[in-house]
Amino acid sequence: MSSSNSSSTPTDRVAKQRGIHTRCNCGEAVSHFTSKTVRNLGRLFHRCPMGSEMDKTHLFKWTDKSVVEEIEDFQDLFDVLLVDNIEFQKSVRAGETMMKGHESKIEEMEDAIAHCEEKITECIRELRIIKALFVCCLVMVFMYLAYA
Ligand SMILES: [Zn+2]
Repeated sequence: MSSSNSSSTPTDRVAKQRGIHTRCNCGEAVSHFTSKTVRNLGRLFHRCPMGSEMDKTHLFKWTDKSVVEEIEDFQDLFDVLLVDNIEFQKSVRAGETMMKGHESKIEEMEDAIAHCEEKITECIRELRIIKALFVCCLVMVFMYLAYA
């Protein structure tokens, strides 16, 4: 992960580069080395082939500092992802609550439909009885008219 500011001066640009870079701003590929100086013996660094520790126009960075920057940038990203995950979890819980509400409504509607089906069956049964009574009355009227 890396970042740079294109509106800065070349000196600032090199100083503000964060993380581990594979190329210098001049376009040269960055190489990795191990310091042999007494002050930083064994310390890893990476630099542009055109640069040095004192030359601020080309990339020179201590690798341990770059790694720390990478970790810091990753931590920032991780914090953002953590917040996003918390928001996502809240959304999932809200969705689950809403779904339970819908399931409850569906059960109520299913009960209402079952009740309506019972009422329809009862109405059909009553209509059959009324039909039978009507036919019976009709037969009695015909018999009355026929034998009266
Ligand atoms: Zn360079």
